Amino acid sequence: MSTLSLSRRNFLMATAFASAVPGLALAATDPYATSPFRRLADGDWKKRLPDAAYEVLRHEDTERPGSSPLLGEHRKGAFACLGCGLALFKSEWKFESGTGWPSFYTAIPGALAKKTDLRIGIPRNEYHCAQCLGHQGHVFDDGPRPTGLRYCNNGVALKFVPA
Ligand SMILES: [Zn+2]
Repeated sequence: MSTLSLSRRNFLMATAFASAVPGLALAATDPYATSPFRRLADGDWKKRLPDAAYEVLRHEDTERPGSSPLLGEHRKGAFACLGCGLALFKSEWKFESGTGWPSFYTAIPGALAKKTDLRIGIPRNEYHCAQCLGHQGHVFDDGPRPTGLRYCNNGVALKFVPA
């Protein structure tokens, strides 16, 4: 038996094992892989969300700077994804960035996932809700201490949950 056919056999066995245990292979890297929010079609989201939130969350639109009522939200609590309710940021991590978008210097561990976005021609780090995959904003490395990060978030994609 050649090395090639042996490795192919191992691959097939591994594949058979993974498919025998539904969700296991994906769950190891993606805890929300089986979330019902992942099964919603674009039309379902359009019905569930206000127009502006739908355009941001599902089509990566960006709200007009200075337009979010959450800029003035300073109570203690959490900022959650408007699409699915997953808590993304704590109020104590919010800071005034002067950009006109709600800004945070860190996020709740595991709540966000990232990808590189080339929409404006230069690479930016897009991030989205880890559960429903709804677009939230972009993260930059010009934030305050202790992280030096600035999560620049669309307010329309968030809802505030008082503590
Ligand atoms: Zn979400």
